[in-house]
Amino acid sequence: MKVNEYDFVSLEAIKNWIGGKWVNPVEGQSMEVINPRYGKSFCQLAASDAQDVEMAVQAAKEAFPGWRNTPIKERAQVLYQFKYLIQRDAEELAWLISHENGKTFAEAQASVAKTVECLELGCSIPNIQTNHTLYVSRGVSCSVNHEPLGVCAGVTPFNFPLMVPMWMLPQALVAGNTFILKPSEQVPVSIARLAELLDEAGLPKGVFNIVNGARPPVEALVDHPEIKAMAFVGSTPVAQSLYARGAKLGRPMLCLGSAKNHLIMVPDADPDMTANDVVRSFFGMSGQRCMAATVLVGVGNIDHILEKILQETKKIKLGVDMGPLINEAAISRINTIVENTLNAGATLLLDGRGTQVESAAQGYWTGPTILDNVTPQMPAYTDEVFGPVMSIVRVKTLDEAIEIENNNIFGNGGSIYTSSGATANYAAQRINSGMVGINIGIPVPREPFAFGGWELSKFGHGDITGEDGYRFWTRPRKLTTKWALQPDATW
Ligand code: NAD
Repeated sequence: MKVNEYDFVSLEAIKNWIGGKWVNPVEGQSMEVINPRYGKSFCQLAASDAQDVEMAVQAAKEAFPGWRNTPIKERAQVLYQFKYLIQRDAEELAWLISHENGKTFAEAQASVAKTVECLELGCSIPNIQTNHTLYVSRGVSCSVNHEPLGVCAGVTPFNFPLMVPMWMLPQALVAGNTFILKPSEQVPVSIARLAELLDEAGLPKGVFNIVNGARPPVEALVDHPEIKAMAFVGSTPVAQSLYARGAKLGRPMLCLGSAKNHLIMVPDADPDMTANDVVRSFFGMSGQRCMAATVLVGVGNIDHILEKILQETKKIKLGVDMGPLINEAAISRINTIVENTLNAGATLLLDGRGTQVESAAQGYWTGPTILDNVTPQMPAYTDEVFGPVMSIVRVKTLDEAIEIENNNIFGNGGSIYTSSGATANYAAQRINSGMVGINIGIPVPREPFAFGGWELSKFGHGDITGEDGYRFWTRPRKLTTKWALQPDATW
């Protein structure tokens, strides 16, 4: 059935994509995939285990020699064709994302555009990567070649069903690896379509595989001796334990975790521009972005800007400008955090709890909530909310604001809003985050700049995109050669 509007539709069951075809899980187990707009199951998903991972590893292992020996320029051509196919089917993919994840159609379209942008970096690698040679002595040269690792794996979260896999896949594939993806069991639909598009683009069978399910396939992947490198994006507790488990086996691991992004706002910030941007950062994609702001640190009297923020927030139409949350657990987590924060003494400026969308009353809806006078001891500050809740912390000086930001355990993103270049520079050099914005609420670096946080937002070395991404999926072979012509050589 075609998905081209918000109306509820049921879709065919999704199996595992192994060796270029759809395969039932060995034990035949399945799980439900829920459309969060309606809170209703709309398709069945393979619930895989270690036996399915084994099948995928064998398929990827068999495909590796042929793919590794394909020239890098030819590998990139498959990705170029893949990019064209994603753009051809962008609307269909955006609707699938909207149904599985709850994003509005406009947000889903933006995430497909960002998926394409990430892919472009992979396409361009053969044009920007050259291996170096240096004559280090008479007749002696050293060179380095970045070579593929073999079968690699990735595990991804629910909030960007296509874009986050595209942080890994293009670099890993263009480098000559074969790949097994374990997508979030909450959003397996649009990525299943991408597997078919990769096949249509001419990717040899077995080079890309999907093993669906929840925790068991992740554990089987990280423990499997044939998995040569693994990347993970999701919550910090899982990122941290997976990183430790893989690293103990000597495996290169790069695991991105949770966030608590602070926006620092000083009184000289441009009120209109700031209000607009801040509202989009906190409430866009229902606050379910790892780069969404969650704490607004107001320095001095910022009430004239807050007033505008409140006005802008009240304009958000639930179901039109803002989608539902991913699941019931997210709604109850947010309700508990908000209630406990209010009990601890915060002030409620706007209450989105319990707001429903009439046409989809069973879905996981909640409107924007704004809490004022939050302190770093309160649950809305200490817990990762991952929903549409703005917590305002009030301080007197910029140094106090920076200290609060620096004391939080995460370091994904942070921003400063000001009209002063000096204030902006002072804060930007001190905010303890891997990605910093000046008058930007979602400071995601665009390609070719790399994405990656600090502190408990990332475990492993380097960033996941950009040049670091390519390095992660390769290993350098250094070649030292002596071809010195002997002075007395005769033939
Ligand atoms: P999650 O950690 O619950 O799940 C992520 C993936 O791990 C899924 O594929 C899931 O099936 C698997 N998984 C879950 N529990 C597991 C376990 N115990 N053992 C092995 N695998 C397990 O995360 P989520 O709810 O899908 O996504 C939201 C989280 O991801 C938030 O914390 C958000 O901040 C974070 N996130 C971070 C970034 C980043 O770039 N740092 C990007 C997107 C999302």
